[in-house]
Amino acid sequence: MSEVADFGLIGLAVMGQNLILNVADHGFTVVCYNRTTSKVDHFLENEAKGKSIVGAHSLQEFVSKLKKPRKLMLLVKAGAAVDYLINDLVPLLDQGDIIIDGGNSHFPDSNRRFEELSKKGILFVGSGVSGGEDGARYGPSLMPGGAEEAWPHIKPIFQAISAKSEGEPCCDWVGPAGAGHYVKMVHNGIEYGDMQLICEVYDILKRVGGFEDSEISEVFAKWNTGVLDSFLIEITRDILKKNDTDGVPIVEKILDTAGQKGTGKWTAINALDLGQPVTLIGEAVFSRCLSALKAERTRASKILPGPEIPKNVITDKKQFVDDLEQALYAAKIISYAQGFMLIREAGKAYGWKLNNPAIALMWRGGCIIRSAFLGEITKAYRENPELENLLFHKFFADAVTKAQSGWRKTAALATQYGIPAPAISTALAFYDGYRCERLPANLLQAQRDYFGAHTFKVLPEFVSETYPEGKDI
Ligand code: NAP
Repeated sequence: MSEVADFGLIGLAVMGQNLILNVADHGFTVVCYNRTTSKVDHFLENEAKGKSIVGAHSLQEFVSKLKKPRKLMLLVKAGAAVDYLINDLVPLLDQGDIIIDGGNSHFPDSNRRFEELSKKGILFVGSGVSGGEDGARYGPSLMPGGAEEAWPHIKPIFQAISAKSEGEPCCDWVGPAGAGHYVKMVHNGIEYGDMQLICEVYDILKRVGGFEDSEISEVFAKWNTGVLDSFLIEITRDILKKNDTDGVPIVEKILDTAGQKGTGKWTAINALDLGQPVTLIGEAVFSRCLSALKAERTRASKILPGPEIPKNVITDKKQFVDDLEQALYAAKIISYAQGFMLIREAGKAYGWKLNNPAIALMWRGGCIIRSAFLGEITKAYRENPELENLLFHKFFADAVTKAQSGWRKTAALATQYGIPAPAISTALAFYDGYRCERLPANLLQAQRDYFGAHTFKVLPEFVSETYPEGKDI
């Protein structure tokens, strides 16, 4: 048997197996390979049985079964494994063949692989794949970037298997080099932010409002029918109503320490590198770090006092819940505005022409941050792909204006009763800073000049012989 497969996939762990089945279901023949080859046999004899899927027990056999130009995807552990495989594959490939890395690779690695492979005439695509196991099987969000010549060859497969939003595929070309993995990284950062915001609101409902988990689940169920309609709100609704066999909500038995794999941290570090105030994702990452200090927090809880929360302090529960909904919505708008600020700056800094409307559409379905709200972001960027900031679009400016009162009340309530709400609060601080024509950085300039002779610039109306460009105090 030779050259039968339209698509090849290396890596038969959870993501790879599900993506292969998805590709096969859409009428393509797939060849699969895995380092531990017993997994190939097991997969062919079980999940892949009766489908248009063939196996290979060596990279040579794998490559020989692919139609040219060969289109092959790696879904293996991110990092060195990707480089090992690429090194072993390159001598077996022809110019114009396409290697797609669908793992969670860091974008500088994808930049490097793109450069190295383009010198060898191999087309490299770094593609974000989001949606976990279920997404891979039934429709992921796919964010491909890299060698654009590869796009016409992989587009029919990628757009067929991806999630759809109102009939449109949640997959389009993102941009050059590591742009696909960059956008996936920001997606993951935004996911950190969305999750943190939901956790803060849950904490306030519980500790200030005195709500039971089942009541909070109902609040989330209602929110899921409005502006907050999203996958994360939906799963939170379901999580909160799940009781253990003893009747205790399972969530109350779970240790309050959150782990992280690093994509949120990468986003926050990149935001610092590019000088962009992506504060909400930063706070979301730091909140996970703080949660991990469980033993230290337990000791601190015994010696560091805070305000008492009186019982039944909330008298108007409907208003309280409405305010929280507005706070969550407004802070989420800020987080996406910050995420797109970062993407916009990355485009400038790395010389990438990025497809903003397509990015929002790719996140609209199939991925963890999918939401109705991303439909509005898609519309905004379709109207103006060069939109300077999401907050300058009427829909979002009106939304934060309307939400402002509830947002401020929520942030104040959290502060008053000592509930940590860093994401809600930082979103508000960013909003107030962003809409402020004159910040106190005038004093900061003066301080820097005072101790470091950094000089300072004056306001345009004060530029004169005395204050030409800069002046020591
Ligand atoms: P994984 O646990 O990250 O990786 C396991 C796979 O990598 C196995 O096929 C393994 O082969 C292979 N592998 C590891 N080291 C190797 C090496 N040195 N050479 C060749 N193959 C090697 O698998 P996964 O959870 O399915 O994820 C795959 C990729 O998708 C990762 O980059 C992950 O970050 C990304 N991703 C995962 C999810 C998710 O929900 N799991 C969502 C989006 C993206 P053996 O069987 O021989 O060990």
